[in-house]
Amino acid sequence: MLVERLRPHNTSVFGEISRLAVKHDAIDLGQGFPDYDGPAAMLEIARDAISGGLNQYPPSLGQPGLRAAIVAERARRLGGEYDADGEVVVTAGATEALTAAVLGLVERGDEVVLIEPFYDSYVAAVAMTGATVRTVGMVPDGGGFTLDVDELRRAVGPRTRLLVVNSPHNPTGAVLDRRDLALIAELACAGDFLVIADEVYEHLAFDPRQHLSIASLPGMRERTIVVSSAAKTFNVTGWRIGWALGPAELIDAVYAAKQYLSFVAPGPFQPAIAYALTHEQQWVAAERAALHEKYRFMSTALRELGFDVKRSQGGFFVCVDIGSDGTRFCRELPARLGVAAIPVAALAERSHWDTLVRFSYCKQDATLREAVDRLRRA
Ligand SMILES: *Cc1c(COP(=O)(O)O)cnc(C)c1O
Repeated sequence: MLVERLRPHNTSVFGEISRLAVKHDAIDLGQGFPDYDGPAAMLEIARDAISGGLNQYPPSLGQPGLRAAIVAERARRLGGEYDADGEVVVTAGATEALTAAVLGLVERGDEVVLIEPFYDSYVAAVAMTGATVRTVGMVPDGGGFTLDVDELRRAVGPRTRLLVVNSPHNPTGAVLDRRDLALIAELACAGDFLVIADEVYEHLAFDPRQHLSIASLPGMRERTIVVSSAAKTFNVTGWRIGWALGPAELIDAVYAAKQYLSFVAPGPFQPAIAYALTHEQQWVAAERAALHEKYRFMSTALRELGFDVKRSQGGFFVCVDIGSDGTRFCRELPARLGVAAIPVAALAERSHWDTLVRFSYCKQDATLREAVDRLRRA
């Protein structure tokens, strides 16, 4: 029954692995969600909002207090001013911001450049528009991965409308540096195309790496839609609060599509996220350090188990190269050892990703220890 344009995106390995994880009572290091809560005061504000009757449609661009908090926090941390009235829209998670940006800004017949492996919603969003995807692969670099600059140059052309860049990157953990981003910026300016900067892990670049937004590079503010989210910063992946920032002309286009998708983002969570952005940056810094420690623990343990562990510089994930079919490995792992992981092949089109497997470490230390104990039984 499904329409042809969505058929290639019908089955997600995420769903399958999650079901297997439940069935075999496995520790789920597949999907990237934390198994512990964000700041307690933030949770309390959401509860109060519901008790206090904040349960109807909020303003469709997002509550003014949240919009102001988003732009103020960003200006403090990264510089770069956005107008809370007109240059930001609150969405139902970053996923909706990404989809609405693509729906609002890409015509049928345009080309969209994606850097693979990629968050799986990008390619489905492009498929909904009837545009064409061109992929650029990341390449091995000093134990991790980085942009393939030469391929990127070849991939962009006169029909390129949009490029999506994600840093810190899911799934590799690569944090792109100024040189990489400057190349994308140069191509975008020369070819006059738009950039979506997926910055959902913007607070989670591990020391000494620092998050740099492509929107801050010369000529880029006017052509970049920055997408971010509370999900990964405050451990609230179920709250569905994300946002898009950019010049008014681009945000108007995102909003035009967004109003017919979710219409509005969840109301009672918006004051809680406004509070957290403004008052919980110390919690965020501590969480970043804790995740860095969890990454060190997992990568050391996986290496001791004999895995070829790839370097990650931020975010929720570490990848290992198992040297054989990663999809098969991930399908068998829940039953075999009681652990779930995601094959990177699910996030890419090219076959050279087929041997990579992604583990998420955004879990309580006890969860990670138990997962490692189970993997040791192999
Ligand atoms: C989790 C994730 C998203 C989606 O964020 P939500 O706010 O939960 O929709 C988008 N991009 C990347 C790279 C992610 O890892």
